[in-house]
Amino acid sequence: MKKLLLLTFFCLPLLSMSTGIEKAASMYICTGPKATVYHASKKCRGLNRCSGEVKEISLADAKEMKRRACKICY
Ligand SMILES: [Zn+2]
Repeated sequence: MKKLLLLTFFCLPLLSMSTGIEKAASMYICTGPKATVYHASKKCRGLNRCSGEVKEISLADAKEMKRRACKICY
């Protein structure tokens, strides 16, 4: 029992660290009406066809907007 407690104690900071990184990651989206994906790179060719603006957002925001990961840069 004590061992299990120690294990969770050591794993927790690691878990929060990895989620912290994910939150800080920037994604790029096109604000055009036909855009449905988010991109890992600003230079992705999928963004070249963008009819709106290219905006930098967080991954959490991209998920909230129901965007899928771009097939070209992922
Ligand atoms: Zn892309």
